[in-house]
Amino acid sequence: MEKNLAARLFRPEVLALSAYKVADASGLIKLDAMENPYQWSDAINQQWLASLKNCALNRYPDPTARELNALIKKTNAIPAEYSVLLGNGSDEIIQMLLMALPPQANILAVEPSFVMYKQISLSLGLNYHSVPLQADFSLDLPALLAAIKIEQPALIFLAYPNNPTGNLFDITAIEAILQTSTGLVVIDEAYAPFAHASFMEHLAHYENLLVMRTLSKLGLAGLRLGFIVGNSTLIEQLDKVRLPYNINVLTQVSAIFALSHESLFLAQTQLICEQRALLVEQLKGLTEMTVYPSSANFILFRTPPERADEIFAGLKQQGILIKNLSPQAGLLSDCLRVTVGKPEENQLFFTALVKTLAANC
Ligand SMILES: *Cc1c(COP(=O)(O)O)cnc(C)c1O
Repeated sequence: MEKNLAARLFRPEVLALSAYKVADASGLIKLDAMENPYQWSDAINQQWLASLKNCALNRYPDPTARELNALIKKTNAIPAEYSVLLGNGSDEIIQMLLMALPPQANILAVEPSFVMYKQISLSLGLNYHSVPLQADFSLDLPALLAAIKIEQPALIFLAYPNNPTGNLFDITAIEAILQTSTGLVVIDEAYAPFAHASFMEHLAHYENLLVMRTLSKLGLAGLRLGFIVGNSTLIEQLDKVRLPYNINVLTQVSAIFALSHESLFLAQTQLICEQRALLVEQLKGLTEMTVYPSSANFILFRTPPERADEIFAGLKQQGILIKNLSPQAGLLSDCLRVTVGKPEENQLFFTALVKTLAANC
């Protein structure tokens, strides 16, 4: 085989990327990926399985997922005049948005934020720019407005709340961005179920605004279903780059079932929010840690200098997997992120953390 076959055939920006890596969690308490820790009861599982019984796996799914689309509009209180585009996770929607832009388009986001904005932009050969957040992870509005003027981004991504920092950005700052930008502004509300804040109502005021959500963090990460809401003239164009049948029949039927039992998730997300408050208080009790406020289902905290790797490894040794963000450096140096799990998982995490801290002082 030719030694440099791949290097000769693929674009340099693809060759320069690293694949999105997911840590192996086998045998570990999994608090690394913002999943809802709760599985359904046997009774609910039985009803779900019954709903799948008549799925025609031999047929292609409904290409526009009409019933699911309508239910999403209803359960998310989306006004009738806006359109909803569904994706195989919101990751696929990020890809669709970027694929629809001109080849030399500038993309703007903040740093640190969700890694797929950059990853997909670069893989498509688009020009990705980022503006650093301030030390407290708030928006640097003057720097952002300057970047908008210089780069004229075709699209701006803002996660609200932000991942991996957990905070909600200032509403008036986002409004200034919406007013200044002549391109699209995508507000990524992946953590809406835990935030009690949304830009959905701002759709009426900004025609360049799109609001994106996902069912992943709500409790259906395995289904892969995300959606984006906006002006129908925009959604209509995005729909052209969507692959036919991107929402498979099992996802369509299962999501319809799940969203018809919304109260299940409300109880779970409320419990997760309560557990988040408890865990924040406990972490704040560890005076050597800096704990950042969170409106999501995870908590970002900063360890004493140069100790994040060792603390992360110590937790893993005790059977607990969280996310080590310290290798990303910059504002995330010495930072770890824990997803809020079940009460007993959170307490195992906290106990293990205290032990690790004490062992290595
Ligand atoms: C998890 C996450 C996503 C991706 O969600 P999927 O729907 O599972 O692809 C998008 N945006 C942010 C900010 C996230 O944290």
